[in-house]
Amino acid sequence: MRIILLGPPGAGKGTQARILTEKYGTVHIAAGDLFRDNIKNGTPLGKQVESILKAGTLVPDDVTIKMISERLDQPDCKNGFVLDGFPRNVAQAEALEKMLKEKGVKLDAVVQMAVNDDELVERISGRFTCSGCGEGYHDKFKKPHNPESCDKCGAKGTFTRRPDDNAATVRTRLETYHHQTKPILPFYESRGMLKTVNGMASMAEVTSQILAVLGQNKGSGNNFAPKKHG
Ligand code: AMP
Repeated sequence: MRIILLGPPGAGKGTQARILTEKYGTVHIAAGDLFRDNIKNGTPLGKQVESILKAGTLVPDDVTIKMISERLDQPDCKNGFVLDGFPRNVAQAEALEKMLKEKGVKLDAVVQMAVNDDELVERISGRFTCSGCGEGYHDKFKKPHNPESCDKCGAKGTFTRRPDDNAATVRTRLETYHHQTKPILPFYESRGMLKTVNGMASMAEVTSQILAVLGQNKGSGNNFAPKKHG
């Protein structure tokens, strides 16, 4: 399965991508994670993008496109991938279309996770992750049973918060989404690839809707009416 998950920051793309990749044995490619890994490892790319991530604006297209193209060439992508956070503007969507064609790879679907803007700031500012296994938590919606340790892997003291998950940067990231990323919805709609699910539903229900629109689940079907873009 080769899909793109689209949606604003806080829509739950990372969570759903992890569920889908565990289920199908595909690879989760998150542009933001790749940048953060480079920053953590002090690579030249990491040094180049650190201040951009801190500000919540977009890394230049040529840098991002090269990074994703190289990642897609890794052998673990052969069984499929879930792209999360890429493409983020029309130029990146066009570049992705071109590079997949050159690599002889066909995209199955583009899934938009539609969410209500007002809730996003609360969702994003309360989230934290276990740096041991990547499990995501939230101060209000998904607390770990023991505040000190991860429910999934049991590691203690491994919870981390992203430095760009603060109210001011979140607003910049949301604006960037509306101005730059949303125009790629009609790009994929015109190619008949865009599917929409209700990202405000429960985590399990969102997964079920994604599987339904991908034709992997005989359950609920796509009964979520997408909003008009713009
Ligand atoms: P994310 O983890 O997807 O929220 O991304 C975190 C940050 O990484 C963004 O605010 C951008 O600064 C940068 N970033 C992630 N994906 C892209 C992309 N496709 N193009 C440009 N910058 C990106």
